[in-house]
Amino acid sequence: MTQPLIDRLPEIASEIDAASHLLLCLDFDGTLAPIVPDPADARMSAETRAVLDQLTSRSAVTAAVISGRSARDLQMRVGLNAILAGNHGLEIIEGNAIWRHPAAARWQPVLHEICGELVARAGQIPGALVEDKGLTASFHYRNAASADVPLISEILNTVVAPHDDCFFLREGRKVFEILPKVQWDKGSAVLRILERLHKTQSGEIAVCYIGDDTTDECAFHRLPGAITVRVGWNQPTAARFRVAGDAEVTEFLNWISTSTNLVRQR
Ligand SMILES: [Mg+2]
Repeated sequence: MTQPLIDRLPEIASEIDAASHLLLCLDFDGTLAPIVPDPADARMSAETRAVLDQLTSRSAVTAAVISGRSARDLQMRVGLNAILAGNHGLEIIEGNAIWRHPAAARWQPVLHEICGELVARAGQIPGALVEDKGLTASFHYRNAASADVPLISEILNTVVAPHDDCFFLREGRKVFEILPKVQWDKGSAVLRILERLHKTQSGEIAVCYIGDDTTDECAFHRLPGAITVRVGWNQPTAARFRVAGDAEVTEFLNWISTSTNLVRQR
């Protein structure tokens, strides 16, 4: 049974304080930054940035931002203090090193071709926007007329169909996503980050994962003992706790920074 996070802070504090390191995994849109009409405008508030900077400066904390955006996009929006897992975890930037899922990386030229064809066929539809993110692509129709959506969907299906051995389509919030057919999700990315962290941290690592998306549910499922937090009340979740919105996420991060012994002391 998922609990309101605010009622469970003592339990969460004791779980964090029982460990010698904290891996803090955070989705970006709707979690660290408010959802805005144009995704290009999404920004963290000054307060969120300040607490994230504070947390990443502590030796007891490793932060990772895990998002559907490309890792390069995250670099601009978040910076490099955190591990950046872009394209739903298919690429991970850690300091100077970048890891990319091998099959997804191999198919990148095919995806680039698909995006070119989509622009050629749908570029004239007002408000339709093709975003080539390297390992995945998004076809945004938030600003298109609803009468044009069936046409957008038809063009997309026609263009992607010949490549359905490598790619599949998924519908999100006012967006169609083109994703590589690989067994990899945000949860796989977190497990990879955690495995690598265990090589440098000898003690127990507490994991906290916060996200607002269906794609974050994969991570919640793969982290049954972790401090998992779903943002928003509307959707069913496998997370242990819930908060209402991104403002509460920032409050929770402030609480971790000031009220847990592990993070306060190191
Ligand atoms: Mg999100």
